[in-house]
Amino acid sequence: MRIYVNDVAVRDGFQIEKSFVPTPTKVELINQLARTGLHKIEVTSFVSPKAVPALADANEVLSGIDRVPGVVYVALVPNIRGTQNAAATARKPDEVNGVVSASETHNRANINRTHEQSISELATMVKVAHEAGIKITMSLSTTFGCPFEGHVSEDVVLDFVERFREAGFDGISLADTTGMANPRQVRELTRKVLDRFPPPNETYYTLHFHNTRGMGLANVVAGIEAGVRSFDGSVSGLGGCPFAPGATGNICTEDMVNMLEDMGFDTRVDLAKLLAVARRIPAVVGHDTPGQVMKAGQTLELHDPPEFLRT
Ligand code: ZN
Repeated sequence: MRIYVNDVAVRDGFQIEKSFVPTPTKVELINQLARTGLHKIEVTSFVSPKAVPALADANEVLSGIDRVPGVVYVALVPNIRGTQNAAATARKPDEVNGVVSASETHNRANINRTHEQSISELATMVKVAHEAGIKITMSLSTTFGCPFEGHVSEDVVLDFVERFREAGFDGISLADTTGMANPRQVRELTRKVLDRFPPPNETYYTLHFHNTRGMGLANVVAGIEAGVRSFDGSVSGLGGCPFAPGATGNICTEDMVNMLEDMGFDTRVDLAKLLAVARRIPAVVGHDTPGQVMKAGQTLELHDPPEFLRT
């Protein structure tokens, strides 16, 4: 069974790093990631450079990177203005990804909008992107829990999914923004979403997990059981949470690929190439990163038995 693997490290990971990663380094990393067999790469974000200085070079990144055939290059857009900026840039992304939080408090903290304001922008965002020939997907942040409000009602999630579908988005991502989801919840809620609003294609729904409490890969398995085929990760497990200092970041892309391939799924990702990218990241960001397979090696990377067993 094919599972589609996307990487968001250059956006979701770098956006919270204290030191600015130089544009040529970002470009080089994206180009290296693009040759590993990943489905999508989220390369930057059209947000206010004041709010997120780490991603102020969106235009330069998009014009600097190679476009490897078959790879979908994605940019995050928080609102209509961001969508317009993405549409106006010289070398457009293939796809933009909007963001609304299922929790009202998180929506205001993250993109400074009430639910009503966000909902009123949906149709225009789709129109602006489609007129520019760009696909547009929507991420529902805090789908599985909010760091400010706690539990998020399933009805609120289902209601947003319905609105996104009606507005004409090309895909929907259900995001566990601060790592509050557990596998049972993922299986049950995701099944409800897919039953009520069946996907028009295999990659219509994406699950985006953070490994904040160590449940990330278990949640991926639960998502596959519920019928989802597309998952985000971050190479070397880069990332964190601006509202929870010390929290770990996204699930680690190469750990996910290692698990999925061991389980017999077809990711089309060259794990050795992906590990080569992951092992460069600590030097780029100046600190250790949480990836485990980058340290332990692939499952079947065997070791010599102890001396006394060798004949
Ligand atoms: Zn995230």
